Amino acid sequence: MAAEVLLNVKNLVKHFPIKGGIFGRQVGAVKAVDGVDFFIREGETLGLVGESGCGKSTTGRVVLRLLDATAGEVWFKDKDVMALDKEEMRALRREMQIIFQDPYASLNPRMTVGNIIGEAMEIHGLASGKDKEGKVANLLETVGLTAQHMRRYPHEFSGGQRQRIGVARALAVDPSLIICDEPVSALDVSIQAQVINLMQDLQNEFGLTYLFIAHDLSVVKHISDRVAVMYLGKIVELADKHELYNNPQHPYTQALLSAIPIPDPNVKRDRIILEGDVPSPVNPPSGCHFHTRCKYAMDICRVEDPVFKDYGSEHFAACHLLER
Ligand code: SF4
Repeated sequence: MAAEVLLNVKNLVKHFPIKGGIFGRQVGAVKAVDGVDFFIREGETLGLVGESGCGKSTTGRVVLRLLDATAGEVWFKDKDVMALDKEEMRALRREMQIIFQDPYASLNPRMTVGNIIGEAMEIHGLASGKDKEGKVANLLETVGLTAQHMRRYPHEFSGGQRQRIGVARALAVDPSLIICDEPVSALDVSIQAQVINLMQDLQNEFGLTYLFIAHDLSVVKHISDRVAVMYLGKIVELADKHELYNNPQHPYTQALLSAIPIPDPNVKRDRIILEGDVPSPVNPPSGCHFHTRCKYAMDICRVEDPVFKDYGSEHFAACHLLER
């Protein structure tokens, strides 16, 4: 039996207004997230992938209400997240945590590691004093550090260790969902694997659910159960990991996959080179946002936005080619 849906995001939109002129009127908008739908079941990992500027990190922040949505719905369990008041949102934050890309910038350099991890426990009334100290020590050991690290400051740690501290801080309040916002992008490749393995172990141990954001399909392959591919504010394809990697339907996903090197010198893959840069989200192309770079683009693609729909077995995609 499939697990319950923990997070359900419906037609999420986030536009950042651009102000101009002497009256500071709105003259445009950066359409960072432009109608995004997905759900995550309890205990699973959804990978969210796309080039830089496609809106994936903004999606994560809007889900957590670190940024206000322009439109759309976010349901966590049976709660309408957008409708919660400040107090209700504060309580929900305990269940929905985030791990940031740059572990150094996200850790207060003037606080000891013990205070950084223990702070959230105190805010949510989960532990204080000696009890808190014991819990922080346990958490540090859970993420592969030691209790002695509690008295040190963030600058005394390597990038990989700092990200472990970030993970421990997220775990401190016993969350069910963690939004992992490019947690390994700033780390060396050898360290990336260690942190991803740690996160997988923690998921199994604590029954965590992850939205794992990355700019590279190869990074999310190992950890994800399903993968969503985002382009210029929209999800263009979403499917079970094996299905998406073996049977990609959207031309953009096909191009991203073709760029992943195969570790076998006897196997060659034809690389699909995407022409041009990602267009500006201030003025995205009409119709299918990908049409300016798609080698299959047809007349309809320039005028009509393809519908994002299920083409069977929860393999979702948005492309006019699939309609024919
Ligand atoms: Fe390419 Fe058209 Fe499909 Fe967009 S809708 S990906 S332009 S074929």
